[in-house]
Amino acid sequence: MYHLDQTEIAGLKEKILSLKRKKNYFIIAHNYVDTEVQEIADYVGDSLQMALKAAESAAEKVLVASIKIMGESAKLLNPDKKVFMAHPYADCRLANLNNVEELKELKRKYPQAEVVCYVNSAIELRAESTVTCTSANCVKIVQAIPEEKQIIFIPDSNIGKWVEYQTGRKLVMLNSNCYVHHQISLDEAKQVKVQYPDFSLLVHPECGLEVCKLADEVLSTSQMIDYASKHDRVILGTETGLYDQLLKRYPQKSLVPLSSRMICEDMKLINLKLVAQALAEEQYEVNLEGKMAEKSLNSLKRMWEILG
Ligand code: SF4
Repeated sequence: MYHLDQTEIAGLKEKILSLKRKKNYFIIAHNYVDTEVQEIADYVGDSLQMALKAAESAAEKVLVASIKIMGESAKLLNPDKKVFMAHPYADCRLANLNNVEELKELKRKYPQAEVVCYVNSAIELRAESTVTCTSANCVKIVQAIPEEKQIIFIPDSNIGKWVEYQTGRKLVMLNSNCYVHHQISLDEAKQVKVQYPDFSLLVHPECGLEVCKLADEVLSTSQMIDYASKHDRVILGTETGLYDQLLKRYPQKSLVPLSSRMICEDMKLINLKLVAQALAEEQYEVNLEGKMAEKSLNSLKRMWEILG
């Protein structure tokens, strides 16, 4: 079990900041990693926000304190920078539940369909899609596709069901979802609501449809951060890293995690020792195959075109 005392944490943070300055790095961390890792990052946010912030920086190198798919997004949007991972194999389990062959099979079955791919997907899947979406814009992206078009939606069928519910469209999906959010049952969510009757229940659309219907708001992580900045009593239905972050930011507010079991094990593999080691040794560089990067970027550009 990874455990550091306060002196070790302070020593590692000092080492990281010194290496970062010396080697001209921009460090990005996801909302779900441990708060001590978030504290040494130049930017903390969701997958695409992190990649875009790195692109705005003048630093020559980017260190991704997060999982593999987010390193791929960072490289996609920072092709001229060197992008390194803090961990060699930590990745999103949802992102790898569907493989390219399954998607190609669906595309053969529905040759006219548009493929909408959630950004938390392996880059190979994003390259095979027509448009990428995020949890914040999934409804808007689907609504922008003409009614007569069939839509294949991958990989998270919980987000897909939420989009179906919101839009009245029927989507072609595979049965895959995020284990962190999918584990929350309707009964469990109801119990927490009863326990905190005057709190707003926010849930991520990766939760099951019945839990989403019960919630006061269904939001992405960045939308939850915004909501919590304006409200004092909030139940956070997403990975506990976001709860830890907001608790530090707003100690005066009443914040509650929907469940302390909502832990993404791969996100929690990232720690200060690995960040320091990655900056010192630069072992895990992200490189993308040219054609695949081009196709994935086109899918992202289509998303931005739709959003205007
Ligand atoms: S919480 Fe779920 S969707 Fe998010 S990174 Fe972890 S496994 Fe992937």
